Amino acid sequence: MNSYLNSLNEAQKQAVLQKDGPMIIIAGAGSGKTRVLTYRIAHLMKQGVDSFNILSLTFTNKAAKEMKARIAGVVGNSEAKNLWMGTFHSVFARILRSEADKLGFPSNFTIYDSQDSVRLITAIIKEKNLNKEQYKPKQILNRISSFKNSLITVRAYFNNSDLQEADLHASRPEVGNIYKEYVDRCFKAGAMDFDDLLLRTNELLARFPETLAKYQDRFRYIMVDEYQDTNHSQYLIVKALADKFGNICVVGDDSQSIYSFRGANIQNILNFQKDYPDVKTFKLEQNYRSTSNIVNAANSVIARNKTKLDKEVWTSNDAGDSINVMRTISDGEEGRFVAQSIWENQMNHQLSSDNFCVLYRTNSQSRAIEDALRKKNIDYKIYGGISFYQRKEIKDILSYLRILINPNDEEALKRIINYPARGIGATTIDKLTIAANHYKKSIFDIIKYIDKIDLKINSGTKNKLQNFMNMMLRLQIEAKTKNAFEIAETVVKQTLLIKDLEKDGTPEAVSKVENVQELLNGIKDFITDKIEEGEDASLTTFLEDVALATDFDSEKNDDKPSVSLMTIHQSKGLEYMYVYVVGLEENLFPSAMSMNTRSELEEERRLFYVALTRAEKVAYLTYAQTRYRWGKLVDAEPSRFLEEIDDQYLHYITPKVPEPSINRFVDKSIFDDAPKGIRFQKPIQRKKMERDLAKKKEIIVPKNLKKVSQVAAKANLFDGNISVGNIVEHNRFGSGEVIALEGNGPNKKAEIKFGTVGKKKLLLQFAKLRVI
Ligand code: ATP
Ligand code: MG
Repeated sequence: MNSYLNSLNEAQKQAVLQKDGPMIIIAGAGSGKTRVLTYRIAHLMKQGVDSFNILSLTFTNKAAKEMKARIAGVVGNSEAKNLWMGTFHSVFARILRSEADKLGFPSNFTIYDSQDSVRLITAIIKEKNLNKEQYKPKQILNRISSFKNSLITVRAYFNNSDLQEADLHASRPEVGNIYKEYVDRCFKAGAMDFDDLLLRTNELLARFPETLAKYQDRFRYIMVDEYQDTNHSQYLIVKALADKFGNICVVGDDSQSIYSFRGANIQNILNFQKDYPDVKTFKLEQNYRSTSNIVNAANSVIARNKTKLDKEVWTSNDAGDSINVMRTISDGEEGRFVAQSIWENQMNHQLSSDNFCVLYRTNSQSRAIEDALRKKNIDYKIYGGISFYQRKEIKDILSYLRILINPNDEEALKRIINYPARGIGATTIDKLTIAANHYKKSIFDIIKYIDKIDLKINSGTKNKLQNFMNMMLRLQIEAKTKNAFEIAETVVKQTLLIKDLEKDGTPEAVSKVENVQELLNGIKDFITDKIEEGEDASLTTFLEDVALATDFDSEKNDDKPSVSLMTIHQSKGLEYMYVYVVGLEENLFPSAMSMNTRSELEEERRLFYVALTRAEKVAYLTYAQTRYRWGKLVDAEPSRFLEEIDDQYLHYITPKVPEPSINRFVDKSIFDDAPKGIRFQKPIQRKKMERDLAKKKEIIVPKNLKKVSQVAAKANLFDGNISVGNIVEHNRFGSGEVIALEGNGPNKKAEIKFGTVGKKKLLLQFAKLRVI
């Protein structure tokens, strides 16, 4: 028996050994779905299936890389290399490149990211003289995206009176025309947006039977992880490709379907049995990831959803700690509690930061957590903020590179035609755009032949345009003989971008210069990696990798262990020893925008299920009583999800009923005299740590840091010098008058009338008031 099979339980083994025909693995979180998929691929190869004939679609490219590495461990690197693995977008972008001419696209087509798409839509709305309030570019883009993901082309839109009526009803009668213009302009620019990568693949497979047959023959075995989150467009691609051999294996958990707002369709998983009547269904029910408290608590919540497939999730793991519930006074305190708790857990259990993860419902919640972690000198990585490649200085350079590959790329050209400033103003660009639309040419071509067209542009500006064009044409020639790194370096030098930044001299500009250097280093690494792997190291491939990088893939190679911060949506498939889910408040989680229908609320509940099931050993659920939202301080109520967890699995750090006086939150300021900058020099091996924990080996805590909470208890946390009538200043609420005092010691509270927010009762130990 092959040794990898020994690391599977019986149900998992059956799924791995099932070779042919359609199959679906339905299983709860942490039950080894991804593991089964990985070993199934390895096993197919061991059975003689050619690695070129296997296609595996994953949620991130990073997940694909990790799976590949594991498979390489079983079958060897040279074989594993040939597997087609990655996200839907990256795999099909690669296919579209080699088939682009069939669809009238150049093979070096540009991939527009959402920033490019929004800019283009904004320009179209402006050109059509439409009201920006009525036609919000992001909303229009979402609408267009939903059309594309349902395979509604422009023509289909204009044939569908229901859709047109809906837009008319929403006072946006021009949506169809914007959609048409957007599609035309992308086509003319030789550009596809993210949704096009799927839509155009569908078009390719539907219109060219011989191409469909070619890929059907190539991908004899198809596997899809996280199938519950595929949209209609993805579903159709998979269905078409699997139509000939029917060797399709999809893996998913209906309880973790969380992307319906992006068009994911939970029905895809529910209907799989209908699409493939001879499907073999496998259920994995044993969870290996989490303690039984976590598994049972998660089960108790998800049980409330009506729409779900029948399956059990259980574990033979220890009960472990109860799930900690913590209430704080504000979002700021919440952040400090999380940072403090991570720090204590690190110290008490000797853990490196990469065992910790903080999850939130919306990106904006990260700020309070970040501030607190920074103050404690705890390293963190944040996913899903603005990615490295989206930064202005980086995007500018990438835009130059994009034009060298595809001169018709309109968004890239508009971005850099006057950056660094060369005196080409908005009016000139408008004239060029109008001419380009009129002559059905790209702006690049219009500039190239500017002498031959009368655009009413004065000779000085014409000169500037010609200088710009000469530089671009020169760079284009150089690009033919240079590698990706050399071209990028030449672009940086010749466009005087760095000079422009250096002239600025501000610290921000200095950091931008460093980022540009980092980009060049990145391209160098890219070339080395690709050459090592025997893959294409061209500039086109580099730009494609960048465009298709998901939040996880653009992570810089940085070995420093750090706490991970991300939205719950991004945490799919991941696991951490300690998980903090923050902001468990009504209207935030569940989100105010998702409480109108049962199905929306059920999706929020699934999101909560995903969050909780990321935890291996310990979970913290926190909520604040007040929170800054949209620039205002609002009162918050605990999330209904807290209520929904069976009480027996919970440990309330703070009492269930709000009673601020017993709030045991430990203020950060008392640790100011603890040694600063304590970091673990070497990442502590998790396995070793687990062994140590299992043996309950005594953990050595640095002498002066023993039990942080003891230090806290001893410290004098409250300010006793405040009397009624004092005018005091509060960091957030500003100044106010103390109108009453009550309680003693750590429970002492002051009632204060603030000019900004009116009357507030504050615990002195937290309020940090200054008498003025
Ligand atoms: P999710 O629903 O979150 O995507 P999953 O079902 O894909 O989870 P995996 O990530 O494959 O689950 O597995 C969860 C954890 O359990 C991993 O750490 C994995 O290595 C471990 N695991 C899975 N099966 C076994 C097994 N048979 N023996 C030991 N560990 C296992
Ligand atoms: Mg998984």
